[in-house]
Amino acid sequence: MSVSEKPVTSAERSVIGRSRWPFFQEPVGLIIYMSLLLVAALFLCGVAFALTPFSDDDLLVFVFLAAGAMICVEGNRRLGAAQHAGLNQDLLGAWWFPVVLLLPPVYSFLIPIPIYFLLQWRTRQTLMHRRVFNVVSVGLSGFIVSVVWHTFVSRDLGQGLQGGADVSGLLQSAPGVLVALVCCMMFTLLNACAVTLAIRASSGTKRKPPPMWDREVLMVDAAEVCMGIVVAVLANISLFLLPIALPPLLLLQRSLLYQQLQTAARTDPKTGLLNAPTWEQEASIEIARARASRNRSAVLIIDIDHFKRVNDTHGHLFGDQVLMGVATTISHQLRQSDLLGRFGGEEFVVLLPGSDVGEAWHAAERLRVEVGCMEIEVDKLKVTVTVSVGLAVVGEHGNDLVELLTAADLALYRAKETGRNRVCLPDGREDGKVPEPREGRGTPAAPERPQG
Ligand code: GH3
Ligand code: MG
Ligand code: MG
Repeated sequence: MSVSEKPVTSAERSVIGRSRWPFFQEPVGLIIYMSLLLVAALFLCGVAFALTPFSDDDLLVFVFLAAGAMICVEGNRRLGAAQHAGLNQDLLGAWWFPVVLLLPPVYSFLIPIPIYFLLQWRTRQTLMHRRVFNVVSVGLSGFIVSVVWHTFVSRDLGQGLQGGADVSGLLQSAPGVLVALVCCMMFTLLNACAVTLAIRASSGTKRKPPPMWDREVLMVDAAEVCMGIVVAVLANISLFLLPIALPPLLLLQRSLLYQQLQTAARTDPKTGLLNAPTWEQEASIEIARARASRNRSAVLIIDIDHFKRVNDTHGHLFGDQVLMGVATTISHQLRQSDLLGRFGGEEFVVLLPGSDVGEAWHAAERLRVEVGCMEIEVDKLKVTVTVSVGLAVVGEHGNDLVELLTAADLALYRAKETGRNRVCLPDGREDGKVPEPREGRGTPAAPERPQG
C-alpha cells in the first residue's frame, strides 16, 4: 500500500528508549482511534472465522499469495536502507487484492499478518503498535471490500452473466474484472483514509498527512491495483502461473524506490523543505532568468534568534519542533512561485521571483511578524521565537546567487548586530527608506498555495 506507514522520527526514537509502552505516549485521540479499530477488527475477524467453512483449496491459494508477497519483501530487502530514510511506498497490495477477490473475507484479516511480520523483522522496523495498526487497517479495509465483493457483486453481477458465474467466472469476464478493479480501488481508498485519520490524530494540525491525491501517489496506487488484478486473474487460472507476476512486481518496486530516493535527495528530512544544494540549483536558474529578462528577484536569509538557548533550555527534540514550526509558518506565507529551502542549522532561504526591494522587504517583515506570533507548547509552557532576516535584490546587491547570498548574509549580520528580530538590507536602507511595494504587484501577501 502506498500510504501505509510513517517512519519513526528522532523524537519518537527517544520515546521508545524512554518508555516500555510507547503506545501510551501517543495522543489520547490516537490511542482511542487505534483501540476502536483493533476491537472492531478482532470482533469481525472472530465472527468471520466462525462462519467460514475453511477448505484446502482456499488455504493453498492463501499460501501461494502470501509466499509471493514475502518473496517481494525479501527481494527488495537490500533496498531497506532507503526505506528507513522515510521512503514507504510499496506494491504489496498487488498480493492482497487477489486474497480479497478470490478467498472468503476472513482471509483478508489474515494476509497482512505474515507480511507485516516479515517487514518488521527484516526490513522496516517501526513502533510495534503502528505495525499492529497497519495490519488492522489493511485487514479491515480488505475485509469490508471482500464482503461487498462476495456478497453483493458476485451474487448480482454473477446472476447477470451467462449461467450465473461464481467468483472464478467473474474474473474471466470483462465486466467482472472491471468491477474487481473498482473494488480494489475502494480497498486502497479505505486504507488511505484510515491511515490519514491516524496521522491527523497523532499530530493534530502540526504535521501534514501524506498527500492522498498527489499525482505520484495516484500513479503508484493505479499500478498496484492493476498488478493486483493481474495476479488475481493469474491465480484464478492456475496458481502455478503466479511466478509470472514476480519479475514485473520486483522491478516496479525498484523503480518506485528510485523515484522516492530522487525526491528524498532534494529535500531536507527534518522540515520537508528543499535542501541547500537543490535550493541553490533552482535559485541560480531563476536568478539567471530574472537577469536575462531584466526582472527583479530577491533573496532572503532567515535565521532564528538565540536558537541555541531554545535547545539548551528545552532540549534538541523541542528545538526540532520549533524548526518544523518555523518552516511551516514561513511556507504558509509564500506564493507558489517562491522558493523556500533550509540552508542549514536554523537558517532558511527564500527566493522571491519578480520582487523589488519594497515588495521583498514587506514580505520579509510579514514573515518575521508571523514567526514571532507562533507559539509552541512545551510542558504546558508556550514558547515563542523571533527571526532576523537579511535581504538582497538582483541588480542592486548582486548579479548572481553567490553575490546575492553574500549580500543577504551581510544584511543578516547587521540585523543581528542591531538587536535581532528585524529585517535588514546590506546597504542599511531599511531605516524608513524602503519604498512601498508597487501597485498591483503581488508580494507574498496573498499566498496562492502553501508550500512545504
Ligand atoms: P543567533 O541569534 O546569533 O543566531 O544565535 P543562535 O543561538 O541562533 O545561533 P548559533 O549559531 O549560536 O547556534 C545555532 C544553534 O542551532 C546551535 C545548534 O545546536 C542549533 N541547531 C542547528 N541545527 C539544528 C537542528 O537540526 N536541530 C536543533 N534542535 N538544533 C539545531
Ligand atoms: Mg545561524
Ligand atoms: Mg540563529
